Amino acid sequence: DANVIHLVHSREDYDKQVLVILYDLTDSRRMEQMQVDFVNNVSHELKTPITSIEGFSETLLDGAADDPKKREHFLQIIHNESIRLTDLIQDILSLSKITKDTEKSKPVNMEDDLNGILQSMAVAIDKHHLKVEKSFFGNKEVTINKSKVDLILNNLIKNAVSYNKENGQITIEVHHDEVENRLRVSVTDNGIGISQADQERVFERFYRVDRSRSLETGGTGLGLAIVKETLDSLDGNLQIESNLGLGTKFTFEIPL
Ligand code: ADP
Repeated sequence: DANVIHLVHSREDYDKQVLVILYDLTDSRRMEQMQVDFVNNVSHELKTPITSIEGFSETLLDGAADDPKKREHFLQIIHNESIRLTDLIQDILSLSKITKDTEKSKPVNMEDDLNGILQSMAVAIDKHHLKVEKSFFGNKEVTINKSKVDLILNNLIKNAVSYNKENGQITIEVHHDEVENRLRVSVTDNGIGISQADQERVFERFYRVDRSRSLETGGTGLGLAIVKETLDSLDGNLQIESNLGLGTKFTFEIPL
């Protein structure tokens, strides 16, 4: 953005006016730096599983494959690391597509939509004996950009599963305000919670709190960045309420 300052000394001096243009480069420098940081982070995150796959497959080829116990253990690691790579690539692609998505809004039944998302997480939900409750206020049929809303819901619900406790609970509330023409959804868990200090950082790309405390391993640290950036692109907003050890509630709102 250019700040243009005209310096006119007097009417008689009008033909000698001076034009000063000041460019504030702070924002574009910051954007450049963010892109460099992102590429560095992506490279680092991709390298970790690849190094592990390389190392364990080499060990197997060097003879460890002859020992059935080692073979199974190392193959499991290679398998897990491959899944991690797929998740990372999927999340990186989601991030880069957010601003380019031109999908038209279409009518979606929110109950069917949520059931589909929950179905894809059924194994983890059952494994940790989690209870899921859904409630709907207003017409369940809403006209939305389905891919984007699904991306948000998927990430919030996946976190409510991963950062829950055994036998925990997940509550999903969908409010369709037809007067204000807004959709408000909250996803609440009674899991491990997020400290005040971390609440300010969890939306940063690749920021993760203590991984060892989660029920499900394998997060990429990109989920909440995707949620935040998708909501920005929909002119929506996101709120977080959390108490360490007690649970977390994410609420998002989008204009329809
Ligand atoms: P990840 O892939 O690690 O889940 P996210 O960007 O989705 O990455 O979340 C960033 C971090 O925020 C997570 O690593 C986790 O520590 C914390 N977090 C996210 N959602 C929750 C939640 N519902 N309860 C507790 N901690 C959470």
